[in-house]
Amino acid sequence: MMKRLLLVLLVVLLPALGFVSLTPTVAPLSVDAFAAQKQPDPETITVYITRTGQKYHRDGCRSLSRSRIASTLKEAVERGLGPCGVCKPPTIK
Ligand SMILES: [Zn+2]
Repeated sequence: MMKRLLLVLLVVLLPALGFVSLTPTVAPLSVDAFAAQKQPDPETITVYITRTGQKYHRDGCRSLSRSRIASTLKEAVERGLGPCGVCKPPTIK
């Protein structure tokens, strides 16, 4: 009973261990780069808000014709502003 269980564990674990040890050391580096790309810092993303609007925008959005105030994504969200439906600026996940 126990012997059989051990055998099953070995069959399952050995290929898995082999795969891990064969994985080159460059793997974590590319994973880090990927993560950095997927999650930009909201404090470094520039968005644009208007004096009266309840939305924030990307640069060049047509809604910015009246006023255009540079802000960070973090600040805009903290003000309770939502992403514009026209220019679809980035959001904080
Ligand atoms: Zn917009």
